[in-house]
Amino acid sequence: MQIVDEKYMKEAIKQAKKAYALDETPIGCVIVYDGKILSRGYNRRNTDKNPLAHAEITAIRKASRKMGDWRLEGCTMYVTLEPCQMCAGAIVQSRMDRVVIGCMNPKAGCAGSILNLLQMDRFNHQVQIETGVLEEECSSLMKRFFRELRERKKKEKRSGI
Ligand SMILES: [Zn+2]
Repeated sequence: MQIVDEKYMKEAIKQAKKAYALDETPIGCVIVYDGKILSRGYNRRNTDKNPLAHAEITAIRKASRKMGDWRLEGCTMYVTLEPCQMCAGAIVQSRMDRVVIGCMNPKAGCAGSILNLLQMDRFNHQVQIETGVLEEECSSLMKRFFRELRERKKKEKRSGI
């Protein structure tokens, strides 16, 4: 499973890099069904000026359209960063089987960090979780993005913009 998981996580990282190119926090996601990529998504929150424009929500919307069903049973999501409360909620609502996570998000993650919305036994659906797949690559992308952002802000401050 590890090799397959890494293969699809690499695809999610490609999506994260699309977000990076738009100066968005680099988070990317793909949804896989039956050994094929059903949909892709990346963070476009600033670009679209939309708090719902997270990678996972975009990918879920596209996958449902392709499946012709709101249920995404049998699907696995690969996402570079641990999902937030909104996305974890949407994942449960979609009845997704499994979520594979690159790196965790201690400040906002809801797949085990702050909450584990994906595995609460009082909800009617639980999702299998796999963490730490290509973790180093996913987290270094995030670190590089925030380091550049800090440097840019410092420069702006210095030049009085
Ligand atoms: Zn989210």
